Amino acid sequence: MSDLTNAAELVALDRAHVWHPYGPMPGTVPSHLVESAAGVRLRLAEPLGGNRELIDGMSSWWAALHGYNHPVLNQAVQDQLGRMSHVMFGGLTHEPAVRLAAKLVEITPEPLQHVFLGDSGSVAVEVAMKMCLQYWQSVGRPAKQRLLTWRGGYHGDTFHPMSVCDPVGGMHQLWGGVLPRQLFVGEPPAGFDAEVDPAYAAELADTIERNADELAAVIVEPVVQGAGGMRFHSPGYLRLLRELCDQHGVLLVFDEIATGFGRSGALFAADHAGVSPDVMCLGKALTGGYLTMAATLCTAEVADGISRGSVPVLAHGPTFMGNPLAAAVANASIELLLGQDWAAEVKRIETGLRAALDPLVGAPGVADARVLGAIGVVQLDHPVDVVAATEAAAREGVWLRPFRNLVYTMPPYVTGDEDLARIGAAVAAAALKG
Ligand SMILES: *Cc1c(COP(=O)(O)O)cnc(C)c1O
Repeated sequence: MSDLTNAAELVALDRAHVWHPYGPMPGTVPSHLVESAAGVRLRLAEPLGGNRELIDGMSSWWAALHGYNHPVLNQAVQDQLGRMSHVMFGGLTHEPAVRLAAKLVEITPEPLQHVFLGDSGSVAVEVAMKMCLQYWQSVGRPAKQRLLTWRGGYHGDTFHPMSVCDPVGGMHQLWGGVLPRQLFVGEPPAGFDAEVDPAYAAELADTIERNADELAAVIVEPVVQGAGGMRFHSPGYLRLLRELCDQHGVLLVFDEIATGFGRSGALFAADHAGVSPDVMCLGKALTGGYLTMAATLCTAEVADGISRGSVPVLAHGPTFMGNPLAAAVANASIELLLGQDWAAEVKRIETGLRAALDPLVGAPGVADARVLGAIGVVQLDHPVDVVAATEAAAREGVWLRPFRNLVYTMPPYVTGDEDLARIGAAVAAAALKG
């Protein structure tokens, strides 16, 4: 595999035939071939920025909390592989899925009692929406079909989730006649520590009140808006949403696919606010970055409502529902996380990222730099040159994947202090050269 001709051939075939996220065909820039990954390091077939080994600053998009090739996670997959890699979930069940569901009920906010194990984050959001719409149908309020969200969000790439992504960032102009038309309020005012803005609170209250008859649910990413712009907001808005939804008979959905499992400094971002949603979506880090799986949790009230309706079932059931390999590695990953002082590790990363990113505030081209938990963001005042910024980070020995006007990092929690300092230097280099 390290044979150069072979690597070049693979990259050429990739470019000619393989779609990559948000890419054209053929690709305009080549993807870099990864041979292997271990700990926090990716090993490339060919050097990038002079380095074949790069420290991973992205956790493979929020997923690889414990780094790569982890002996405990590898063992969990191998043990399960020896028993069975998959069986259908209709009429059958198995220990890995049951244990996972029970664990998720235990560690998420108390009212969440029932778990749907789907196969990707977008599907988890689809299921959440289906639960909400079906709940209102079942209890005799079929007019409640719309969703409300705030701008700047991201909830996945399939159609219904796309309808609640930010209309500009989510390219709604492409999908005029296709997407359901949801309700939007402005972006939540920025700042984890900021006071709740009374004007914004009034806008939320007014919009929910006026539209309550047709609103099935409010769906938001709590505390951290991820792929929609890497923005942080006060947990106070989540408490406010909880109150308003209760007051007006609207369900509340938290999409914690990016924030779950400690990333923002609390195990779930809902914990910052001390509130529970009616429905919660988990994904990304659920399996420690090993296999694709996601979960949608709901309260007893939502489940009972659906199960007492004229179609008394939740009408969803993917082929790979509850996949045993994914569930087994998810169980091992959660055990590994909770078996250590994960909060201290996230705090340590937060401190390291602050030391590196705070000095960038006011630098030329930099509009803002912000850190929360194990998430560091530099917002530029111009669109980033992705190729130049990626190169600049790689010269510092780090893999970053900037987008739009953002250079950001969410390192694996196992990243050591020296590697963390290099990630900080790479973010700075990418921000100043991108
Ligand atoms: C990534 C993400 C999704 C979509 O998950 P996929 O597994 O990519 O389908 C949905 N919501 C949020 C908040 C995400 O970060």
